[in-house]
Order: sequence, then C-alpha cells, then structure tokens
Amino acid sequence: MSYSVSPIGILRSCFREKFAIPRQPHLAPAARGELVLLPPFDQPQALEGLEQVSHVWLLFLFHQALEAEPRLRVRPPRLGGNRYVGVFATRATHRPNGIGQSVVKLEGVEPGRLLLSGIDLLDGTPVLDIKPYVPYADSLPDARNALAPEPPPAIGVQWADGCLQQAREQALRLGQPLVELIEQCLAQDPRPAYQQPAPDRRYGTRFWDVEVRWHYPSPHCIRVVEIAREAGHS
Ligand code: SAM
Repeated sequence: MSYSVSPIGILRSCFREKFAIPRQPHLAPAARGELVLLPPFDQPQALEGLEQVSHVWLLFLFHQALEAEPRLRVRPPRLGGNRYVGVFATRATHRPNGIGQSVVKLEGVEPGRLLLSGIDLLDGTPVLDIKPYVPYADSLPDARNALAPEPPPAIGVQWADGCLQQAREQALRLGQPLVELIEQCLAQDPRPAYQQPAPDRRYGTRFWDVEVRWHYPSPHCIRVVEIAREAGHS
C-alpha cells in the first residue's frame, strides 16, 4: 500500500547548506525564510484567517536526506553521534517517509507566501502542509523527554578583527539580521559532538549568499574568521 503526496509550497530559507542549521526550530529566532505557495494554494482563499495565528506547524520532506532503505536505529548528533537509538525515539532526518515537522513563527501573510522566522529548514525544502499552532493542545508543560531534556548548551562566539563589520555590511545589503543569525547558529556548536578539532581547523557554511568560516580556538569557543559574499560576486 502506498500513497503519494505533493508539496503545497517550497521554503526559501536563509540556510543554503545543511551544516550549522539548528537542530530544532526557535534555537535561532533570527533564522528567516518565506514559504512560496504553489497553485492552487497560492490563492488568497487558502490563507484566509491565518493572520489570526502567531505560529504554524510546517510538515515537510527532508528532501536532502531521503533514503531507499529504511533505518530502524539512528545515531543522533544530540547523543554524541556514536550511540544508537530507535528511529522513532528521535527527530533524526533519516526516517520513514522522510517527514519533518517544525513549529515556526508566522511573521506575515502576503499574497502567495508566508513570512517565517525561527526556522530549521534548508533552502528548497518541499512543504507538504501547514497547520496552525494551537496553544491549549500543543503546549504540554508536563511532557518529558529524557533523551533531549533541554536545549543544547550554547558556546561563546567571537569575531576576528574586521569580521563583525563585514557581517554588518552584508546584513545591510540583505536587509536581514545576519549578525544575530550567525551568532545564534554558531552558538549551537554545529560540529559533530565526537569531533575535537585542532584549533586551526576551519569549518564553514553559507547563510543567505554569505560564506562564513570559523575555528575553535578552545573547545568551548568559536571564532568567526571569514565573512564573504559567495563566489561570483564582488
Ligand atoms: N524540527 C524538525 C523535526 O523535528 O522534524 C527537524 C529536526 S532535524 C533534527 C533538523 C536538521 O534537519 C537540521 O539541522 C538540518 O541539518 C536538517 N534539515 C533541514 N531541512 C532539511 C532538508 N530539506 N533535507 C535534509 N535535511 C534537512
């Protein structure tokens, strides 16, 4: 038995690479994007009433992690990347049907698109459905999860000479809170937990069209050492 689904929209996101995307929504409130709706859901009727809602659930496809063979157990980065648990005990991207879900903030409703923040989705992610967040039903103060009891600890983020100014200039050009985005995402410490990098080893990713590089001068601190518009632009 199989069913087919089709996207109702495609997410245009600040995250152009998987590396350094926060592991859950809201860990980086400055992470912004827009959901561009596809016909027929780009019609105003489909969005009527949504302006009364502050947050929405997005159901989406982990389109860059789809696999032919289902996994029964996974090794979540959260547990150090070397301990197996059942796939249904995790929010891992490698999962049956490749379906993800995130509660994100609805910043605005415009014709054919939704403006969002606090996202944890890659650019180009196909979105299958949108549902309003319902506080009385979706917020459960007594809920517990001993595998992920609290947000990952944040680490310090420093800027090498000139980099903060360069990030501010790129933020102005983009009209986006790029400095906050970089600080919030890197504070999540994107490196796999089992890696203890040499202090001079460089890591990098892209936020919007800006390449960001950093290293770990000490295990509990990140230093941003390069900010550059992606190749092809001056
Ligand atoms: N909040 C969602 C959930 O619980 O289903 C996603 C959690 S998952 C652990 C978050 C990670 O998914 C991010 O760090 C990012 O690397 C990855 N990711 C986001 N969008 C993706 C996509 N379209 N394809 C593959 N991986 C994606």
